[in-house]
Amino acid sequence: AVVTRFAPSPTGFLHIGGARTALFNWLFARNRGGTFLLRIEDTDRARSTPEATQAILDGLAWLGLDWDGDPVSQASRADRHAEVAQKMVADGTAYRCYASKDEIDAFRAAEKAAGRPPLFRSPWRDGGAAPEGVPCVVRLKAPRDGETVVEDRVQGTVTWKNETLDDLILLRSDGTPTYMLAVVVDDHDMGVTHVIRGDDHLTNAARQTLIYRAAGWPTPVFAHIPLIHGPDGAKLSKRHGALGVDAYRDMGYPARAMRNYLARLGWSHGDDEFFTDAQAIEWFSLEQIGRSPARFDFKKLENLSGQHIRAMSDDEMVAEIRAFAASQQVPAPDETQVQQLRAAGAGLRDRAKTLPELLEMAHFILGSRPFEPDEKAAAQLDTVSRGMLHRLTERLRNASWEQHILEAEIRDFADQEGLKLGKVAQPLRAALTGRAVSPSVFDVMGVIGKEETLARLADAAG
Ligand code: GLU
Repeated sequence: AVVTRFAPSPTGFLHIGGARTALFNWLFARNRGGTFLLRIEDTDRARSTPEATQAILDGLAWLGLDWDGDPVSQASRADRHAEVAQKMVADGTAYRCYASKDEIDAFRAAEKAAGRPPLFRSPWRDGGAAPEGVPCVVRLKAPRDGETVVEDRVQGTVTWKNETLDDLILLRSDGTPTYMLAVVVDDHDMGVTHVIRGDDHLTNAARQTLIYRAAGWPTPVFAHIPLIHGPDGAKLSKRHGALGVDAYRDMGYPARAMRNYLARLGWSHGDDEFFTDAQAIEWFSLEQIGRSPARFDFKKLENLSGQHIRAMSDDEMVAEIRAFAASQQVPAPDETQVQQLRAAGAGLRDRAKTLPELLEMAHFILGSRPFEPDEKAAAQLDTVSRGMLHRLTERLRNASWEQHILEAEIRDFADQEGLKLGKVAQPLRAALTGRAVSPSVFDVMGVIGKEETLARLADAAG
């Protein structure tokens, strides 16, 4: 069975590249009916605060990437990492190295002077009597000849000459494991079958392969995905989207749109741009991950976001509005408002590309009297318009409140006033919603009802 994992270092936020890595691991596990694990690589004690870890968990939770089981803390496994290193020493695939920093530096300088790569070749590799009271590290006894090959599912066959790889340190002199050892031991112990991560880790895969061999363990399948670049092809910068996922939540992109967009950043399924989670899970495969860096494009994200908002059911829309309101610490809609949101339904979703735009369209429901017009709406409410609205109000008092009747009434009223329908509808919209943009005025009147319509008109007519 497939086991994937996401292994972030807690830095205080879940950045967009990490979110995409997590998504690919999640999609692949769900596609194969496998398991998706979470490991927090919290060995950097200074940076790895509980808050930094929580930020990752919150980011994943918002994105809807549910992991299986409890998150594993890498730091808590240090004893196990040391145990594996000592076993490798006992097996002769690693050794204790007593070289001092000065000796190592001198060796490297000499190599360099001789025109060779400045790799340290420890004299302790082939044993020797341990000096008394001198601290030691544990090094991997890496092969010096031949090649190390990684059959990467995205990058293809990648080969390193072993003479370019040194005897990397597994345990530091204080007994703590290095990152390279910890990752291998954890992935092995967690039963990880597929390591899907950024291609900045590709060289690590060669080194880790050597550790797997030395430990006598099978290597997982590697898939190193190209990093995300900015729209100009350069490394992703803050301005171009290198933000935490919380920033995207705050901008009001629904999580489902974010998943869709991130999936398309580096993976494709034919020409499909818009898809559901179920489709992404069904379609996902490592073979369709591209080999060149994906470019981050806000316009595409916004476009997908609009499509996902339009595709929402009334229930989904209400749930999204509730969740967004909670995340932005604004009041949640009450029961009456929820009913009105449902009644307004698709009319609200039609033109919104983000959740704030959706809230803006729903302002006539979520706001309360008096509806202070914004600048554009205020421009519709001059003295002439207010007089017109006054006459309209009189007429609507006796109208029966059904959509088609209201529409006929207002058309008839416009004829009588010698005005085009828009010249009535725009000031009417401004009065009822306080905005220049809203769902159709007939929808608005239907949703808020007769009493409220007349009250808002009275407010505006002043
Ligand atoms: N902790 C590493 C990072 O955040 C990932 C290690 C891995 O996926 O093997 O970049």
